[in-house]
Amino acid sequence: MTQKRILVTGGAGFLGSHLCERLLQLGHDVICLDNFFTGRRQNIAHLLDNRAFELVRHDICEPLTLEVDEVFHLACPASPIHYQKNPVRTIRTCVQGTLNVLDLAREVRARVLIASTSEVYGDPLEHPQLESYWGHVNPIGPRACYDEGKRCAEALAVSYARQYGVGVRIARIFNTYGPRMLENDGRVVSNFIVQCLRGESITIFGNGKQTRSFCYVDDLVEGFLRLMASPEEQPVNLGNPGEFTMLELAEKIRKLTNSKSMLVERPLPVDDPVRRRPDISRAIERLDWQPKIALDEGLKRTVADFQRRVSAT
Ligand code: NAD
Ligand code: UDP
Repeated sequence: MTQKRILVTGGAGFLGSHLCERLLQLGHDVICLDNFFTGRRQNIAHLLDNRAFELVRHDICEPLTLEVDEVFHLACPASPIHYQKNPVRTIRTCVQGTLNVLDLAREVRARVLIASTSEVYGDPLEHPQLESYWGHVNPIGPRACYDEGKRCAEALAVSYARQYGVGVRIARIFNTYGPRMLENDGRVVSNFIVQCLRGESITIFGNGKQTRSFCYVDDLVEGFLRLMASPEEQPVNLGNPGEFTMLELAEKIRKLTNSKSMLVERPLPVDDPVRRRPDISRAIERLDWQPKIALDEGLKRTVADFQRRVSAT
């Protein structure tokens, strides 16, 4: 293996911290850049003593120059409650932040992996979602700051590739979960686990029959590494094709935590996608990648992590 200098933007976040850890294990030098909007120092506290690890506090909306071989560009809030808190900032992070990363990559001839999202498919009219589907996104709804921001990030990436020959990789990430998600992250897996552990009501948005596909973080990180190393220039779906309703998810988490929490219905957020499941044929064929960790096993590991943290508060 060749040792590389790798920049991870958003490296102190949920996915970024797992990725930094894995890259260090593989023997690379890692620069973790974060403005700590939703990231936490404690996510990477165990890496700070490693001489191959460097932490840079920086907002990606400001330009930067760093000598690196590769960039995993993850900086952006991912949970609806966080990305909707300051929608203008979310769009700026997606657009200006991605422009800055691509300019850096162009200057130092680094390869860039863009963390895109299944949200580019919006509330999809095709099911499951293939990369060839252009999506069904409300451009003016409350999710638009994120969905359209990420669509623009993809457009920027392919434009830099076409116009300047920058090596870009586009990962369309489907819902991913695992240890280190924030307790107040607002995403469904962390909400349900925390509610069950605290004996609070489980908040089901709408009738709970909407579906999502949940990928365990270690599987996703493996997908990132394979995509970055591959010659694939087209977007690639990374996710677990298992599809569950939110009611099924609540039941699984309730059982795993031995919780007596009751379900309570809350209004369905505007433009909440009804169904979501990745078609991962491209990842299987071109990256020889598919997730290995089933939802029950992944939830067990995630619950164990939350049990340590929630009981410590
Ligand atoms: P996260 O919120 O835990 O991590 C995002 C990180 O980016 C945080 O550490 C945050 O502080 C940092 N950040 C935000 N704005 C920044 C800015 N302007 N400058 C520098 N740092 C900034 O979320 P995550 O789940 O780890 O998601 C990481 C990436 O993956 C995001 O780009 C997200 O859109 C994408 N993604 C995640 C999922 C998922 O299910 N986890 C699904 C689809 C896409
Ligand atoms: N959801 C829910 N209860 C919660 C949080 C979320 O029922 O406490 C639902 C939400 O409406 C959505 C699904 O769970 O249908 C996944 O939500 P999340 O915010 O995790 O991800 P996204 O909507 O971005 O896929």
